[in-house]
Amino acid sequence: KHELSTQPIEKSFYIESNLIKSLTKNEVKQLRNQDGIIIRGKHIQKPILEWNQLGLPNEIFQILQANKFNSPTPIQCESLPNIMSGNDLIGVAKTGSGKTIAFLLPLFRHLLSNITNITDSKTFLGSSPRAIILTPTRELSIQIGKSAQPFADKLGLKIVKCYGGISISKQINELKRGCDILIGTPGRIIDLLCTNSGRILRLSYVSFLVMDEADRMLDLGFEPQIIDILSNLRNDRQSLLFSATFPIKIQTIARKILKDPIEIIIGNKNKVNENITNSFHVVDKNDEKMAILLKTLGTCNTEREKILIFMEKQKSCDEMVNKLISRGYAVMSLHGGKDQYEREGIIKDLRDGIINILVATSIASRGLDINGLNMVINYDAPSHREDYVHRVGRTGRGINHGEAITFLIKDLEDRKAYEICQVVDKPDSKIVEMSEKWINRPREESNNGDGDGNVNNNNNKGFIYGFSGHGLERLESIRNEAQ
Ligand code: ADP
Ligand code: MG
Repeated sequence: KHELSTQPIEKSFYIESNLIKSLTKNEVKQLRNQDGIIIRGKHIQKPILEWNQLGLPNEIFQILQANKFNSPTPIQCESLPNIMSGNDLIGVAKTGSGKTIAFLLPLFRHLLSNITNITDSKTFLGSSPRAIILTPTRELSIQIGKSAQPFADKLGLKIVKCYGGISISKQINELKRGCDILIGTPGRIIDLLCTNSGRILRLSYVSFLVMDEADRMLDLGFEPQIIDILSNLRNDRQSLLFSATFPIKIQTIARKILKDPIEIIIGNKNKVNENITNSFHVVDKNDEKMAILLKTLGTCNTEREKILIFMEKQKSCDEMVNKLISRGYAVMSLHGGKDQYEREGIIKDLRDGIINILVATSIASRGLDINGLNMVINYDAPSHREDYVHRVGRTGRGINHGEAITFLIKDLEDRKAYEICQVVDKPDSKIVEMSEKWINRPREESNNGDGDGNVNNNNNKGFIYGFSGHGLERLESIRNEAQ
């Protein structure tokens, strides 16, 4: 392990604007109630309402404008002033709500003000990044890298991405050329920490940590690696954790890793984005699905719309691809069985519209943000509610509308129907019926080791939540009144 850097770090940059200052406690409370925002912790900042209330450097502001991000989303409004005041933070918000920008802006602000003197011994050959972003999957690392790159370019900072599945030597070479921001998956980062007896990657200068999609990282069993990585970072760092769901597991690990975090929970913790229409086909047998799928595809404009089809197994993905190709569709599959270059190429082809249909397993899809993807089809229904939320969350991103269609097999998949009912607003009667059958199942069945039927975990408090920023509109009107 490397000696920890002791140079002081600056974490607090936020100065509340007069307008925000003028909001009364009651007004803020009302706004948060309206958007279903729960916020807990010490020294909580009021939300901002516009980008210019953050005192961001002009370079950052310009990129937001170039992206047409006209106003911050609710999670951004709430988390940015709190993070930029130097707090650790847990941000929980549905997929597609803009969490990436919520951590990237403070990260860049932090790096700009903390120009660290990195002292290298002669034997050290690699990089000492100052910020690190951990992600569960390589695809998500790539995607965050893409969002961050324009900022890094403008500010003269170097990003290196480190994930498994491709040769480590290329990543070592990149690290030898320097790195300010490391984005990667825990496994590969651990490998790089050990490479060349620790002379390639040193994390003792890291003063800014982000864990994105923390729920998924834990699902994938990364906890030991995460703990290991964190023991290499500065103790006085700022740490952020983002997640779409907030299970107990996350709460426990967050308590271990973060210091006095502010918690921001937007919307009903584990629910599907309200921009998404959820519909269901209950079939008697698996064989019946294909005809319905083809009929559905027939009604889509597959030239323009992008469609993501989820299947349980790698093999069935590939079989499906063959069937669809023979019917003239431009389609590929994405799953853990493909090597990394191939996977990146496939995602790029979908982005560029070279293919319009992707058939994937859950694991390959996490965090994917693909423009124009407006339909998700669960050909095989997911087993867990979180998985449902994440799968369908590939569509309906930003202000766009999305459509999710799920196949369920009668009698066999009542439990899956039950899981889905926990996360979908007003599910249709067919699956409610299946769900009730599961709840009222004979006792022996409930003890048969299914493992995850935490029946009383329905946190439906009827929250209003949304990307469109109900709160923003309200704040806007308050501001107009104030003027
Ligand atoms: P999450 O991580 O919460 O699932 P992302 O950060 O991937 O969501 O953002 C979802 C989409 O919303 C992306 O396409 C992103 O570019 C867009 N987006 C983010 N912030 C804004 C904003 N303030 N205004 C408009 N679009 C935004
Ligand atoms: Mg995200």
